[in-house]
Amino acid sequence: MPKVEIIGLTKKFKSAKDEEILALDNLNLNIPSKKYSTLLGPSGCGKTTLLRIITGLISPTKGQVLFNKEDVSLRPPQERDIGFVFQHFSIFPHMDVWHNTAYGPLVRGWEKEDIAKAVKINLKLVGLDDRAKALPHELSGGMRQRLGLARALATHAKLLLLDEPLSALDAKIGAYLRYELRKIVKNNRLTAIHVTHNQEEAMMISDNIILMRKGRIVQTGSPVELYNYPKTIFAANFIGKCNFFTARKLSDNLIDIGGRKLAVKKNIKYDEMVIGIRPEKIHLKSHPGQALFTGKIDLINFLGHLYEYRINVNGNIIKAYKRIKDDKLPEKYREGDKVNFSISGDDIFIFPKPKDIKKELSLD
Ligand code: ADP
Ligand code: MG
Repeated sequence: MPKVEIIGLTKKFKSAKDEEILALDNLNLNIPSKKYSTLLGPSGCGKTTLLRIITGLISPTKGQVLFNKEDVSLRPPQERDIGFVFQHFSIFPHMDVWHNTAYGPLVRGWEKEDIAKAVKINLKLVGLDDRAKALPHELSGGMRQRLGLARALATHAKLLLLDEPLSALDAKIGAYLRYELRKIVKNNRLTAIHVTHNQEEAMMISDNIILMRKGRIVQTGSPVELYNYPKTIFAANFIGKCNFFTARKLSDNLIDIGGRKLAVKKNIKYDEMVIGIRPEKIHLKSHPGQALFTGKIDLINFLGHLYEYRINVNGNIIKAYKRIKDDKLPEKYREGDKVNFSISGDDIFIFPKPKDIKKELSLD
């Protein structure tokens, strides 16, 4: 069962103008066996490059890729025992479902019976066993992507690499396939490395998220860890929604946020800070011991299970969620209303104030 290790991996490209592009900057990474891992990050951060180096389709400028402690850096893709699925269906348009699935075992020279068995098992796995004679253009987008998966799995690869496999699909079908993909990987004890720029997809599908930015790894951990303990402003902002305020240290356990005092339990390490708070932690009333703010409701979004408010506080927009109670009473607030809201010192993330906050908050 493969455990993938990346050691000191650097990849440089040359641009059309002959300038150097540092796509991956000295990455070190352990990808656990039998887990669903995602490489998550904004477009251009190096996810596809990293995945292609793991597949062997491109070689690194520096560094190594190990599968189960064995250096595979010089091995071609077909000798790495991996299955891969791409965003744009990697299937042959002129071959029916059966022959598309049989392709990998066929070119590897498997016995006829073994090929038939592998095709049968994998088509059943992805729910296409009754469409074996269909041509790809007779299938829906979701079915074509499931065929891509059957094809990737047909050679019994235990390591599955997927590059944005759901991004080209209709949102509803993509969301359904997320669930199917995870189920197939977990039930068959596969190791998956899935590239996506979609944080919601990564949160739903992963055991382990590897958050990347500009050719580097920002943070790795479970979705819960990344959501609740983001290590940087970028991580807090990229995963889920987050509000930010600048703040100043008053004493070890007291900070000032725009003239309001807030007690915090942990020892404050920085004189100048940025604090982050999730929308569900904004309380739309005053609580003793919490910092109180006033703003005007710019917008109320009804999301079914909650209301999302956009509250204008001196030109800054603060997002707040309020759960919709069972009684379904009409919302008491209206757009344009003045509201008070409060935050608790227990719910905030504290980051050192960066030189350039705009850069930290940009999503690329
Ligand atoms: P992602 O998949 O996260 O969107 P990529 O890995 O595709 O990002 O790209 C990372 C960086 O490397 C980008 O700046 C991209 O333009 C550059 N890049 C990728 N492939 C090549 C290539 N073959 N030649 C030149 N630049 C490349
Ligand atoms: Mg990509």
